[in-house]
Amino acid sequence: MNQFYNPLFIAKILKSYLFDIDRLHRLDEEGLRAFQNTQVRKMLHFASTVPLYQEKYQAAGVQSTDVTGINDLRKLPFMTKDDIKQYYPAGIISSTKNKDQLVEVATSGTTGKSLPLYVDLYDIVMGLFAYVRTLHEYGMSIWKNRITIIGDFASHTAESGYVTRGVQPRFNIMSRFKNIQWLNTNDDPQQLISQINAFHPEFIGGYVGILSHLAVLKQTGLGADISPAHIGATGSVLDPSLKTFIEKSFGTHVFEVYGATESGLIGFKCRHGNYHIMADLVYPEFLNKGIPVRSGEAGHLVITKLFGGGTPIIRYNAINDIVAPLDSTCRCGMAGGLIKKIYGRDDLAIYLPDGTVLLASSFSEIYSRLLYELRTNKVKNTRIVQHDLNTVEIDVLVDEQLRSVGPSVAEVCAFLKQGFQTKVGPQVTVTVHEVDAIDSRGPRIISKVDPSQFVITGYR
Ligand SMILES: [Zn+2]
Repeated sequence: MNQFYNPLFIAKILKSYLFDIDRLHRLDEEGLRAFQNTQVRKMLHFASTVPLYQEKYQAAGVQSTDVTGINDLRKLPFMTKDDIKQYYPAGIISSTKNKDQLVEVATSGTTGKSLPLYVDLYDIVMGLFAYVRTLHEYGMSIWKNRITIIGDFASHTAESGYVTRGVQPRFNIMSRFKNIQWLNTNDDPQQLISQINAFHPEFIGGYVGILSHLAVLKQTGLGADISPAHIGATGSVLDPSLKTFIEKSFGTHVFEVYGATESGLIGFKCRHGNYHIMADLVYPEFLNKGIPVRSGEAGHLVITKLFGGGTPIIRYNAINDIVAPLDSTCRCGMAGGLIKKIYGRDDLAIYLPDGTVLLASSFSEIYSRLLYELRTNKVKNTRIVQHDLNTVEIDVLVDEQLRSVGPSVAEVCAFLKQGFQTKVGPQVTVTVHEVDAIDSRGPRIISKVDPSQFVITGYR
C-alpha cells in the first residue's frame, strides 16, 4: 500500500511536523540527551534485524543491549564504507522491511567511490523536515514563501531519491506546493538563472558551486530580478570571502547547511551565525586516533543517525570529513552543541613537508578568488595531483564557451599557481597546465603521498 494513504503514517508525519521541527528549541540539554539515548536504543534494536550489524557486532563480541545510550556508543566498532558495500544489497536492509518500501540512494562519489544505501519514507520525510527546520530559523514557511531548491537530481542521488523517486510519486508534492521551484544543479547555469529570475524566490537553496556560478552571472547583469531574503548553501565548505561575494551579488544573506547522503543533515548556521548540530537527528563524534578531540580541535567525523528505517548508520566513519567541535552555547538557545569549523574531506587532501594537511577549505579559498577577484567562471574543472611531498601539479579544464571572455587562460593559470604557491609554501613546486579533458567521475585530488607514513601536525 502507498504509505501516504496509510492513516498511521500520515498521523506520524503530522506529529513530526508539529513536534520535531522545533525540537532543538524546545528541549534543554538534559531533555535532548534523554531523547538521544532513547533514539540510540531504538536504532540499535532496529540494527539487530540487519545482517550487516548482526554479524559485525557478533564478531566484535558486543550485543545491542550493551548500549543503553549515547555514552555506550564507543563500545561499538566503526562501520566502514567497505562493510556496507560488502553486505549490499540484502544485508544492509532490516529483515522487517520489504525492499519495495525502500528507496536506493548513492553518495555523490567526489572521490570516485560511490556508496549505495537505502532509505525509507520516514527517513525521507525526516530529511526534508530537517531542511524545513533551517528555513524556519530564517522565518520562511514552506506553505507561504516562494522557495527555489537547486538540488542534485541526477538519477542516483539522495535528492532524487528523496524527491523525484520518494515523495513525488507518492504525494505529488510538485503540484501541491506551487510555491516551491525544483531545479537541477546539473543544468546549464544560464538557463537556471533565467528560470529563477522568472520565479522571484524569497529563498534559494543550493550547492556552493552552483550558487557561486550564479553569483558571477548575476554580476554580469543576468537575473536582475533575483533578490531572495536568504540563501542556504549546502556542501561542507564555504569560505568567508566567497560567502561575502555571493551575498553582495544577490544583495542577501547566505547561511550554511551541512549534510551527507549517509546521515542526512548534520548541521546548519543559525541567525546568529553559529553552526548548530542537528543533535536530535544525528550524533557526531569528532575523533583523533579514536579519542575525542578537545573543543576547537580538528577531528575525524564519525556519525550515528538517530532515526529511519532504511540502512542504519551507526558509528559510521566514512563521511571522511575533518570537523572541529566547539564547546560553547549560542544565544538562540538551541540545544545540541556547536561546530567550530568544517575543513572538508580528509580523502581529498594534500600533505605539506611541515606536516600540515591541506583540505577542501583551503582549496576553496583559492578557487573562489577566481570568482570574486577575476570575475571568471571559465575554469570548468580542475584536478590536483600531488606526486610527492614537494611536487604538486594542477590540471585545468577551460570552458570553451568562455575561453575568450574575461581574463586570458594564461592569466587564470598564473593566478591559480600563485594561489596554490601561497598555500603550500616555497618548499613545494607547483605547476599548472591546461588539459583537454578531466574525468568528472574520477577523483579531483590525488595524492601519492602515503598518509600512513605521514605525521600530521595540523589541518588547514
Ligand atoms: Zn544559534
